[in-house]
Parts: sequence; C-alpha cells; structure tokens
Amino acid sequence: MAEKVASLGGEFGFINLIRSRITDPAGIRGIGDDCAVLPMNSKSDLVVTTDLLIEDVHFILDDITAAQLAYKSAAVNLSDIAAMGARPIGCFLSIALPKDITARWADQFIESFIAICDRFGATLLGGDTTSSKGPLAINVAVLGKVPCGRSKLRSSAREGDIICCTGTLGDSGAGLDVVLSRVSSAGSTKLDADAEWLVRRHYEPTPRIQEGLLLGELEGVHAMMDISDGIASDLNHILKASSTSSVQLGADIHVEQLPLSSKLRRWSAANGKDAKIIALTAGEDYELLLTLDPKDFDLARNLLAPLCSLTAIGEITASHKGIRYMDGDHELNQEISGFTHF
Ligand code: ADP
Ligand code: MG
Repeated sequence: MAEKVASLGGEFGFINLIRSRITDPAGIRGIGDDCAVLPMNSKSDLVVTTDLLIEDVHFILDDITAAQLAYKSAAVNLSDIAAMGARPIGCFLSIALPKDITARWADQFIESFIAICDRFGATLLGGDTTSSKGPLAINVAVLGKVPCGRSKLRSSAREGDIICCTGTLGDSGAGLDVVLSRVSSAGSTKLDADAEWLVRRHYEPTPRIQEGLLLGELEGVHAMMDISDGIASDLNHILKASSTSSVQLGADIHVEQLPLSSKLRRWSAANGKDAKIIALTAGEDYELLLTLDPKDFDLARNLLAPLCSLTAIGEITASHKGIRYMDGDHELNQEISGFTHF
C-alpha cells in the first residue's frame, strides 16, 4: 500500500519537503516564520501571512456563529502579523461556500469580518469566491508592515533568554473540549459561566497586535511567534530555528509558572483534567511566545501591563537539547507534545 502523507512526518514534514526545494530570493525571507518578510520601501518591510480554515477540521458549522467564524478567520491571521511585531495594512478573503449557506449567514459573516479587520487596520483588498460541493473553506491572507530589518523572527533566541508568554494559556483548548461535548450531546448540556467563557476564548481569540507592536520596539525581545499549536510544539520551532551547527539550544519550562486563568483552573478541577497539561499541549491560544534578555523583562511587562499580562515561564539554555518540563525540582517524564495535523 502506498505510504500516506503522515509518513513524511506530518504537517511539518510536508512543510520541510517544500522548504528543501526552495531557495529564498536575495533579501526575502520566505517559508519558516509566522510571516514572509519582503523589502517594501526605504522605511518598511512588508510581512505576509495566510491561514486556511476548513469545516469539520477547524470548526463545526452548526456550533459556531457566522460572526464568530468570520472573527476567528481574521484573528488567527492577524495573530501571525502580531508575532512579527508588525502593523496590519490589508487583507484578502477567499471562501468556498456550500450551496445551502443562507444569504443571512453570508451577510453576518461579511459584516463581522470587515468589523474585525477595520478594528486592526487591515482593509479588505480582495479575495476569491467559489461554491463548494464539500466543506466550507476559508482562506485569509493578511499584509502588514514593520520598520526595515526589525521584524521579530523565530530564529533569534539566545542562550540565557527568558521565555515569556502573553495572557493565559490553555483556555482555548478547554473551550474546544466544551464545544465537542456540546456537539456530541446535541446541545442538550447547559453550559455554566466558566464553560461559556472558555468557548469564547476558543472562538474569539484576541490578536495581540498592540502588544506585538510594543514588544517589536524592544531590542531585548529576541525571538517571537504566536502560539497556535501549544508551546510544547511551538517552542520547538524557536529552538530549531535559533540553533546553529555550533550551538544547539534547548529550554527549561517551569510548569508551576504557566499563566492559567481562574476559569480554566475551576473547569479542569471540576472535569478531572490537568490544566497545566492543557496549557502546554492544546492549540489555538494565539498568545505571543517570546524570548528576551532578562534585563528587559520588567520593562516589557510594564509596557504591556495596560493591555495584558506577560509571564516568565522558562529559560533558553545551551546545556541540553529540546524542552525539559520542570515541576519545582522534578522533571516531568510524561510524553508532552502539541497539536499536529495528520
Ligand atoms: P503558522 O502556525 O504561524 O501559521 P505554520 O506552522 O502553519 O505557521 O507554517 C510554518 C511555515 O511554513 C510558515 O512560514 C508557512 O508560511 C509555511 N507553510 C505552511 N504550509 C505551506 C505550504 N503549503 N506551502 C508553502 N509554505 C507553507
Ligand atoms: Mg504563527
């Protein structure tokens, strides 16, 4: 039997296959970061990102509202712009609509999509529309700008950096769990306030644009990316991109320092789940993950304080490879890995 695409090493194996056949043109950074970076003019670089959302892979059409789906389609892309420390300037929306989608649904989708894009300064500049004989599919691309050479890359982490994240982790993963139980019980379960809040965190993540711009101005912020697959996966991208043939970087994560919302803690306790493991492994938080010079941590935290929290969760080290998860003095020895397609 022919081997399936999973045998390539999943999503990232496939991306590596593509990458191995491409050479970036001079002055352009293509595949490998949250956005591609291209020179725009004497002051700014252009950053570009695109993300695809497919019915029954990324969302369940009967559960999410048209407005929430539009918001989320834009937000996950804006989050990649934030991860570069860039300012959104425009976006493109391509959509494949099953024929039974109602005019009212389409109207609500577009109203919400334009509202979030306007809120973050990304004018809708074009796109493409087709019918679909299968699932609803949405592809968004967002363009942004950043002062020349100042985009924050995954490849800039240094030994001794503090690893930080914005906001709280794991809420979206718990929200997805609530959504899946609600769908399997055909909506018969009444959600309490915590569960409702977690579902909102899953459907309406906050793109950290303002936070990314503030962090982008700090020299001490070295590497940055957004958390879409859980830090157990995403931090590995930073470690890999920042290692060289002479210095292999690793990380220590202190699980007791993970920022957990009170709602996630209560919901996890009530449902027999481990909030810390959800925070490490579940995807779609769309918070920023960054490494910074320890001397700039207080400055960065104070700059962000009016907007959101910034929490130190670990350090970059050259003394071991990969991520070591520490609970106090003990190293966790269970398998901890983030989300992956395939
Ligand atoms: P993110 O989660 O930030 O959107 P991904 O993990 O999806 O990033 O992608 C990692 C990198 O691989 C990005 O630079 C992205 O542009 C690139 N990439 C992903 N899929 C493809 C593809 N099918 N063709 C070319 N580049 C791709
Ligand atoms: Mg990203």
